[in-house]
Amino acid sequence: MGGGLGAGALPDVRMGPRAYVGLAGAVCFAVVVAASALVTHRDDFVGFGFGDLWPAGGLPIVWLMLRGARVPSIDTVLLGAAALAANLIAGADTDLAAVFAVANTVQCWVAVLLLRRWCGELWGFGGERAISRPRDVARLGAALCLATAVGTTLGSAAAAYLPGADVALEPVASGLWFGRNLASALMVVALAVLLGHRLASAPPRPSLRGADARPAELVVAILFTIATYGLAFRFDELPLAFPLLAATVWFGARFSTLLSAAHSFVVGIATALLTLGGLGPFADVADTDLGFMIAQFYVATIAVTGLAIATGRDERQALADDLRQAQEDAVYEASMRAAVIGSMVEGVLVVDEAGELLVRNAAAGRILGLGDELGSDVQFSLSSWTLDGVQLTDDERATTRALRGETVEGELVVVRVADVGERVLTISAVPLPRDEAHHRARALLLLRDTTTEHTHREELAAFAGVVAHDLRNPLAAIDGWTEMIADELDTGRLDTDLAREFVSRVRSSSRRMRELIRDLLAHATSGSRALAVSRVDVTAIVHEVASARHVGGLVSAEPVPAVHADPVLVRQVLDNLIGNAVKYVAPGEEPEIAVRGRRVDARLVAVEVVDHGIGVPAADRERIFDEFHRAHHREYEGSGLGLSIVRRIVTRHGGTIAALPNPAGQGSVFRFTLPAYDA
Ligand code: ADP
Repeated sequence: MGGGLGAGALPDVRMGPRAYVGLAGAVCFAVVVAASALVTHRDDFVGFGFGDLWPAGGLPIVWLMLRGARVPSIDTVLLGAAALAANLIAGADTDLAAVFAVANTVQCWVAVLLLRRWCGELWGFGGERAISRPRDVARLGAALCLATAVGTTLGSAAAAYLPGADVALEPVASGLWFGRNLASALMVVALAVLLGHRLASAPPRPSLRGADARPAELVVAILFTIATYGLAFRFDELPLAFPLLAATVWFGARFSTLLSAAHSFVVGIATALLTLGGLGPFADVADTDLGFMIAQFYVATIAVTGLAIATGRDERQALADDLRQAQEDAVYEASMRAAVIGSMVEGVLVVDEAGELLVRNAAAGRILGLGDELGSDVQFSLSSWTLDGVQLTDDERATTRALRGETVEGELVVVRVADVGERVLTISAVPLPRDEAHHRARALLLLRDTTTEHTHREELAAFAGVVAHDLRNPLAAIDGWTEMIADELDTGRLDTDLAREFVSRVRSSSRRMRELIRDLLAHATSGSRALAVSRVDVTAIVHEVASARHVGGLVSAEPVPAVHADPVLVRQVLDNLIGNAVKYVAPGEEPEIAVRGRRVDARLVAVEVVDHGIGVPAADRERIFDEFHRAHHREYEGSGLGLSIVRRIVTRHGGTIAALPNPAGQGSVFRFTLPAYDA
């Protein structure tokens, strides 16, 4: 039995009856049923049917159960034959034995069919579950009661019409049939289902003893059972049957359902055998058969009591386990949710109609500049403005709209944050399911700080505007000059000198455009190019730049401590600064440039490019580093991008740059810092 059985993976699923033993098993059952009549045969027995066969009432049901048998089958034939043999052995004459055999067979089949119908979730009757709920016990008891009642009625009625069977009319005889079969069926079937389920389920199996009970308690409970039964059956002149129930209650309440059923089985057999042997409180009744009948009802009672208590406890335990599991799941889910929400870069807020803040994450506090003040008891209300500076009314706010049921997607608003100033936020708001307990609407708010993106976008737009403007100017000039050339050509008297002059203007405009485009490219790459730092000899680069610009004689350089920087970018810095120093001199004056450098602290080297040119007006000293800002735009050509490129490169290296007046009087000093190589 049990070989190759799947574990009860899906409880409560009916799969129809299954065969657990083969035909050989059926034959064995038939032999055991017939043979047990021999063993328990009693000559002075006055009842009918199966003699005192024990536990014949349950055994054939287990047989049909394990075989997964159908009504028209070899099992029915074998069962009928075994029942006939048993009744003949028990001493009934042929007619009576045949009638009883039919009644016994019908009784077994009614029981099996009812059990398959009512207890189809249980192992052996189509399901995979053990007897584990009081409802199972009630259904099992009802099915067996009904089947036994059918068998008893059939047997009694048929026997009444057979000649020489007047004994069958006695109510005690019918009661005996009913009691014996019911008690046996309750004990044997329950034990078989529990045992079968345990053997069929995959390890690890739950403790046979029971989860709470220790081995010592089991020993004490067994001793207690022996002691109470010993006392009750030894001193049979005293009505000491009632303490016997205590042992059943003990086993039902403390040990596993299987162990409790086994206990009921053992004490049931013991009770029957002792009563049959004329011992104990039940044998003491004047009429032996009446006493035996009472003993059978006692056995049925302890079987049901034990099962009811054990399954009641099992059900309670299962509910408690479910509850604990649900609580653990809830705690896990809550911690998971908190971790996810907490680690989000976006601010998350859940607000209800009353302004109560139900959920918030750290990012929300950070974005709104409220830090820990944003507790859950804070009344939430966020004043906000449009990008044009118009304050949003209550009705226009994303929160209010989401609370009304509207979904707001990525709206840009300005909020005022203490100590920071204005922040541009991208807000999305989604209506959430209503809080039915408090009858309030709820909304989820997602906040993203897009201040930097917004500033960049604005800068980019301004940048594009300037670029467009600066490119348009030389383009317009080229247009103008070429048009004039065309006009001159049309008249057919183009003066060569004039033409040369026009062409040179066109070329100068196109050069300006080319330079602007070059600077724009340099500006774009100075920020995005990955830094490839190494040891850089600043003095060497100064000489290189000067000779490339053919101003070697005008530039002097003192040795500068080596810096740790990107040599290509350092060259770009020096090229811009030396280029400016050469360019920004008064007309007719010769530029004179000196480069020097020294270590300023543990980390940095300061480099100074000193000139004696026209100098930077004090008001422009900061702003010349901004894109397109020019202090001398009329007199000198340029894009206004050089110094902004220089500042970007220096800042990317962790340094700073400043334009200072030359302390010698005329000109300026451009002073920048870079990381020292040996720092
Ligand atoms: P550009 O030289 O193309 O105009 P820059 O960004 O290099 O652009 O310089 C910005 C402005 O700073 C220049 O227009 C000029 O007015 C001023 N400037 C830069 N370098 C010097 C310098 N060495 N002496 C005087 N003014 C300078």
